[in-house]
Amino acid sequence: MEKREKLYEGKAKIIYKTDEPDKVIMEFKDSATAFDAVKKAEIKGKGVINNTIATFFFELLKDKGIPSHYIKKLSDNEMLVYKVDIIPVEVVVRNLAAGSIVKRLGIKEKTEFNPPLVEFYLKNDELHDPIICEQHIYAMNLAKPEEVAKMKELALKINEILKEFMKENGIILVDFKLEFGRKGDEIVLADEISPDTCRFWDIKTGESLDKDRFRFDLGDLIEGYKKVLEKLEGNNEKN
Ligand code: UDP
Repeated sequence: MEKREKLYEGKAKIIYKTDEPDKVIMEFKDSATAFDAVKKAEIKGKGVINNTIATFFFELLKDKGIPSHYIKKLSDNEMLVYKVDIIPVEVVVRNLAAGSIVKRLGIKEKTEFNPPLVEFYLKNDELHDPIICEQHIYAMNLAKPEEVAKMKELALKINEILKEFMKENGIILVDFKLEFGRKGDEIVLADEISPDTCRFWDIKTGESLDKDRFRFDLGDLIEGYKKVLEKLEGNNEKN
């Protein structure tokens, strides 16, 4: 596998072409951004740990039959994935109220959503990723009704798998963001699942083990992400 020119650089990852047209390399960067990239930092080791955690989740989901762009981990900070046509809609699943929904709707933090909420946001930095509803997706021709139905179905299945798995390992899955892409006729999970894109709370202490550490200066980011990885890998005796 040959790494070729850069195709796209985002806030947390760089995508490179390879010598195979249907595959790209996703490189995880050490950059952290929050609040529309108003807050920025380089955090040594973040790329490596996010690649490791994202690989872990993609493998787990593959075992459970969830289709994704993931092929394999290539190196400490690189993953090989299928090139997909990303649907410009961020799908957020919420089990407990936290973050933007608390501010937007005045819902008390930690309110449980049962069934879980599925929300859509337009992937558009200039417009600050506004929340949208299904009808906006159709009006803007971003995806077809059957594609939206598939994204919702997959998002809820992924939530059940991850929520259960995290709980067994001492972590509450509060909420998370997913992106999907088209691979031929199929809708597959794309982008990443990591502590950058999820809220994880320690079941016992309530400590945030995710990017909220960076957003709100709650403690060393790498320390939190390492706790997540240790728990996932079952290396934590105290679970
Ligand atoms: N999220 C993300 N990327 C975004 C927006 C949100 O990964 O551009 C994740 C975020 O980390 C959290 C969930 O989606 O786990 C819900 O985020 P929320 O809408 O509460 O926004 P926030 O307050 O985090 O900006």
